[in-house]
Amino acid sequence: MRKILIVVERARGALDETAFEMLSAARGLGEITVAAVLMGEDLGEPAAELARWFDEVHTFDDPRLGQPDGDFQARLLAPFVRREQPLVTLVPHTNTGMELAPMLAARVDAPLIADAVTLEVAGDGVRAVRTVLAGKVQASVSATGGPCGVLLTVRPGAFTLPDVPPEAAGTVHAEAIPDDPAPRRRFVETVAPDPGAVDISQAEVLVAVGRGIEDEENLDEVRSLAEAMGAELACTRPVVDKKWLEKSRQVGTSGVTVKPRVYLALGISGSFQHMGGIKGGPFIAAINKDPAAPIFDVADVGVVGDILDLVPLLEKKIRGRKA
Ligand code: FAD
Repeated sequence: MRKILIVVERARGALDETAFEMLSAARGLGEITVAAVLMGEDLGEPAAELARWFDEVHTFDDPRLGQPDGDFQARLLAPFVRREQPLVTLVPHTNTGMELAPMLAARVDAPLIADAVTLEVAGDGVRAVRTVLAGKVQASVSATGGPCGVLLTVRPGAFTLPDVPPEAAGTVHAEAIPDDPAPRRRFVETVAPDPGAVDISQAEVLVAVGRGIEDEENLDEVRSLAEAMGAELACTRPVVDKKWLEKSRQVGTSGVTVKPRVYLALGISGSFQHMGGIKGGPFIAAINKDPAAPIFDVADVGVVGDILDLVPLLEKKIRGRKA
């Protein structure tokens, strides 16, 4: 039976949810062996946890893998992928995954589909949908690989988490790590977040603002609305890039992952990098003046309109109700 390899990431020691989302995607392909690939240091516990879910767990346990290094990982995994000859290798579409996947694909001479949001078997290969043009177009892409199959990076959040694991007894295989290749990069330091920064990851209600706010001065209206709603203020990356709000308020793949119950998106287009940071299936309400904005594809409630007009009205309404 052919295999699917899933590259597992860990964030501050914990297994990243993307591993289980990709497992859901793989199980959806039918009878196939699903193997986790775990790289890092002191992998005993996480490997045992993964073995409850996956048919096989392959560990690369070495202090040199303690820090993310896509170049080193790709050189280490290439002979492994050649040996395993998987149908598909899935890598999370994260900062590290986006670095690892193309390097690995080039080394094993396999086609790569980046940022997949669906996955199905098509003939001898696979077919996946990926969004292009800032999420406005969905492209269906097929690829057939050689002996090393096809590589895909999978967008975080694109697949739902699997249910409680069966009593699966996956086998754990400790892979030998040769001295050569050696890492070509030297890890310098981890920069910890500012301890005084706001923690939006725990907020139940978020009012998030995007480039549609147009001017820093207009943020006061949004702050006031958030206060009226008892919500925390969040934003997209362009708002941080303009230095209008702190980085700790940025939601997304290169920002904070949030799990609110309610998410109000104001003047946000709905890029995958932003939406990738929203987990837990919150109720999403969006206001945007472009009826074709991708945010409306995921919003539970959408209003086509100008936030500069609607935010003060909304605040007034909410304060009125509270009174
Ligand atoms: P835009 O895409 O410019 O959208 C603005 C929206 O506002 C438009 O839809 C427009 O119709 C609407 N609008 C304009 N004026 C008004 C108005 N007056 N009233 C109502 N609507 C209005 N982005 C993140 O957010 N988080 C991340 O973590 C992140 N990480 C990234 C990582 C990488 C490697 C890269 C390449 C990009 C990343 N980005 C991230 C950026 C991302 O690709 C998008 O560019 C960004 O999310 C867009 O932000 P936006 O929706 O505010 O702006």
